[in-house]
Amino acid sequence: MDPRLLDGKKLSQKIKDSIAEEIRQMVAAGKKPPKLATILVGNNPASETYVSMKVKACHSVGMLSEKIELPESTTTEELLKVIDRLNADPNTHGILLQHPCPHQIDERAAFDRISLQKDVDGVTTLSFGKLSMGVETFLPCTPYGMILLLREYGISPEGKQAAVVGRSPILGKPMAMLLTEMNATVTLCHSKTKGLEEIVRNADIVVGAVGKPEFVKASWIKPGAVLLDAGYNPGNVGDIEISKAKEISSYYTPVPGGVGPMTIAVLLLQTLYSAKDHFTPPLK
Ligand code: NAP
Repeated sequence: MDPRLLDGKKLSQKIKDSIAEEIRQMVAAGKKPPKLATILVGNNPASETYVSMKVKACHSVGMLSEKIELPESTTTEELLKVIDRLNADPNTHGILLQHPCPHQIDERAAFDRISLQKDVDGVTTLSFGKLSMGVETFLPCTPYGMILLLREYGISPEGKQAAVVGRSPILGKPMAMLLTEMNATVTLCHSKTKGLEEIVRNADIVVGAVGKPEFVKASWIKPGAVLLDAGYNPGNVGDIEISKAKEISSYYTPVPGGVGPMTIAVLLLQTLYSAKDHFTPPLK
């Protein structure tokens, strides 16, 4: 076993085992298991696969799920009505709207209709605002999954220089916020960033969140850096040139088996928290 490996497969299983145990105890005490509702709009094959994986993961820990499949032609108003129904249902603890929605849908309006208490995917404007203010809320699953990996392996971001490459609202931007909360000094990079190579070269923590295969080159990596690769491109390739970069790193996430499995584990964890009427505990 490579001592530098941040093993997301192993940690996600550990988290799922503890969730399953807690649900067993809830059920033994006469309570209903938590329930996650998933909404899939349209027929995007990748989205169908992601939703199926999430539903399967729910069942694997004894959680209930409600899978809602809406046609490609669904309007924003129709989708909002479905979300309203789930918000009002006391037996639904989490709502996941699979991204991307068909183009006619106002996706931001749909995400923001999800009540804060059921936003277990951490995608609403309000959740992001609270996270940015350091107030308890549910966190975006992939960034929080990366933070849990750092914590599991005793890696503190405090005082470190971090480069986050990619600033999407569900990934790069909240990851930069979380690392900032944990006292790292963060440079959030994007397609208009000048001198990216140099910024990465100075980073103790590098987050790949670009969506371009092996975009971050091994030659840019500072010796001893921690590499977190959220990228998932066809052929099981991440956003960091990890096969070469891992030799230079102190720790790295593999693709697959790194960040990906953590995303689903966090989704389940936050659904359990919601069923227990609390948000995700503070980071520090
Ligand atoms: P996205 O919405 O397409 O965002 C990509 C980001 O990369 C944008 O901020 C973009 O900058 C930036 N970028 C593009 N070209 C760049 C360049 N040449 N230099 C620097 N930055 C550049 O993608 P996403 O949804 O965040 O996903 C990113 C990757 O993570 C994908 O591979 C996706 O599959 C993966 N992902 C994995 C999980 C998981 O569960 N493991 C979850 C979500 C996403 P601009 O803002 O300037 O356009």
